[in-house]
Amino acid sequence: MIMTPTSNGHDWTIDSVREALADKRISARELTAEFCQRIERRNPELNAYLALSPERAYRQADYLDGLVARGEDLPSLAGLPLAVKDVLSTKGIVTTCASHILEGYRPPFDATAVERLERAGAILLGKTNCDEFAMGGSNENSAYGPVRNPLAMDRVPGGSSGGSAAAVAAGMAVAALGTDTGGSVRQPGSFCGIPAMMPTYGRVSRYGLIAFASSLDRVGPFARNVRDLALIMGTIAGGDRMDSTAAAVPVPDYVGGLDAPVKGLRIGVPTDYFAEGLNSAVREKIEAGISLLEQLGCVRTALRMPHTEYAVATYYLIATAEASSNLARYDGVRYGLRASGGTLMEMYRKTRGAGFGAEVKRRIMLGTYALSAGYYDAYYLKAQKVRALIARDFAEAFGQVDAIVTPTSPVPPFRLGEHASDPLAMYLADIYTVTGSLAGVPGISVPCGRTQGLPVGLQIFGQPFGEARVLQLAHAFEKAGGAQV
Ligand code: GLN
Repeated sequence: MIMTPTSNGHDWTIDSVREALADKRISARELTAEFCQRIERRNPELNAYLALSPERAYRQADYLDGLVARGEDLPSLAGLPLAVKDVLSTKGIVTTCASHILEGYRPPFDATAVERLERAGAILLGKTNCDEFAMGGSNENSAYGPVRNPLAMDRVPGGSSGGSAAAVAAGMAVAALGTDTGGSVRQPGSFCGIPAMMPTYGRVSRYGLIAFASSLDRVGPFARNVRDLALIMGTIAGGDRMDSTAAAVPVPDYVGGLDAPVKGLRIGVPTDYFAEGLNSAVREKIEAGISLLEQLGCVRTALRMPHTEYAVATYYLIATAEASSNLARYDGVRYGLRASGGTLMEMYRKTRGAGFGAEVKRRIMLGTYALSAGYYDAYYLKAQKVRALIARDFAEAFGQVDAIVTPTSPVPPFRLGEHASDPLAMYLADIYTVTGSLAGVPGISVPCGRTQGLPVGLQIFGQPFGEARVLQLAHAFEKAGGAQV
């Protein structure tokens, strides 16, 4: 019989999985089978997974069961049932970026973050749904249909890493990888009621991450608690000879630092994040969350971050400009889909016309426009200057405080289709996450109470390469009952 920690089995954690394997209460094979069954049960209604990788999962499970049988030490993440966003390359396993243009594409190599997790014993269950090429905030831009929020089936799970968030929240994985360019890990974490982390830019290798906006893209984890996030961060962080932007900054013991006292830490609360547009119920929960941190001994300081109001416009210029360049490679020649055409030009046009969805096309056009001769200085260059000012807001803030605390999203999870015809409304909802993306700093979203049953996320930003501090605060908040404020 399979012994799960609770009857619904949702409470597996990285440590409880590893201990159960070591104590022979469950084999890695049984565990894998259990998760495959859960996926079979829940995925048809949630649409969180696009592809499953049972062969690869069972191969890893057998390897782990061999270690147990021989009485050998188990690696740190042994048996971790893992889901990976479909923008991360996985050798031999179809990787589509939730786009028709990559239909059937099987990468010839693994993303570094995936490889590191598997080397540490994780079991890759499959690839998760997302907004096409990670462009979106609701997972409704997937070419393979939207994902539903497991906590409220008529609502979106957030995006773009909605499938990863939903898989973890629904107990179809114990942890997952997503990517965050402008909020795509933090916001779905917030919408699905689980902690989720965006590391510092350059903290985790982007090798094998299919590019959306290269100066912003980051790989980050989802889990059911902050400790598991810390375990994963400790595994995937660090330099990589395959990515020159992955910094060789030493990786501290994130788990070891989790219980350090937070008393006396200065938390900055930027008034600019509590202005017009913030839903009043979300505001109330965030205020309660900040009070909880104060009860733990943190010292609240009011901050001004005056360039916050330009962040959405700046982000959507830079992200689309980089996307228009990155997505030029999908031409029907090298990967995935190829439409037939009488001439080379016609083949390109038809392939891209049929292969990309509406949001991706919109962004390619916006980005091409921003980069075109005559407009480059007025838009792209201007946006780069404002990006520097936003980064300066953060640098100045960190002269006064140890962390910055804000809402993750101005609104609770919205209904499927609610913003479908209004891309601008969706862009504006990225206001609190894109700032940290532009500045390159690490940020986490941690559950902070609920409003009418819908989860709210508290965002904590730290200094560049200061993930340890962010995790420590989030862990203290979680332990003190942050999810119930
Ligand atoms: N919602 C933002 C966008 O649509 C963020 C996406 C992301 O982080 N990948 O661009």
